[in-house]
Amino acid sequence: MLPLQTRGLLVVLSGPSGVGKGTVCSYLKHKHPDLIYSVSATTREKRPGEVEGVNYYFMSREDFIEMREKGEFLEWAEVYGNFYGTPRKAVEKNLEQGKDVILEIDIQGAMKVKEVFPEGIFIFLLPPSKEELEKRIKGRAADTPETIKHRLSCVDRELACIINYQYVVVNGEVDTAAEQIRAIISAEKCRVDRMACLNQKGGNIFD
Ligand code: 5GP
Repeated sequence: MLPLQTRGLLVVLSGPSGVGKGTVCSYLKHKHPDLIYSVSATTREKRPGEVEGVNYYFMSREDFIEMREKGEFLEWAEVYGNFYGTPRKAVEKNLEQGKDVILEIDIQGAMKVKEVFPEGIFIFLLPPSKEELEKRIKGRAADTPETIKHRLSCVDRELACIINYQYVVVNGEVDTAAEQIRAIISAEKCRVDRMACLNQKGGNIFD
């Protein structure tokens, strides 16, 4: 079989707080285990039910800053008062092994990834309406009223960033949104300009 693609794809999924990125990713994880989910580091408090190394690597601000200074993050951002970062090594290792990696990160982080990884696939998850987004943000029992207020105040600025993405998926129904993301990844894998071997071989594809 012709090895059309040697490196995996880097997929960046972001969108406003509360849009349901985590829920869509959980669905994808379950249905499409071939996709690798990057586990981020964060300085925020662990929520009930969250597991170290599965949801996040929870760490102190000091440890985060040390990792950041050593260049161990592909990107990092301060989101709602806490630090979040994507550990670089695991992402690079998986991509080199030909595995597709998804980053579920905020908009600032996504734009940083775009600078260093312009060949990534940037997908913006949109709520079906602003009212629905506000309902979802307010409905998160684990968040304090201050956090909710802060997240609500960021919504318009976050929505305006959609223009920097290549794809938009509306998260009305989780399964539909997740399957659309899967379809985007499948289509991207068929792009001729991603297939280094075709570009080099010209007409002698099977030689
Ligand atoms: P939460 O605290 O609700 O888990 O996440 C808050 C925000 O941080 C979400 O928008 C989430 O996508 C984002 N986030 C999670 N991990 C990372 C990361 O590694 N880098 C960046 N830039 N944002 C992240």
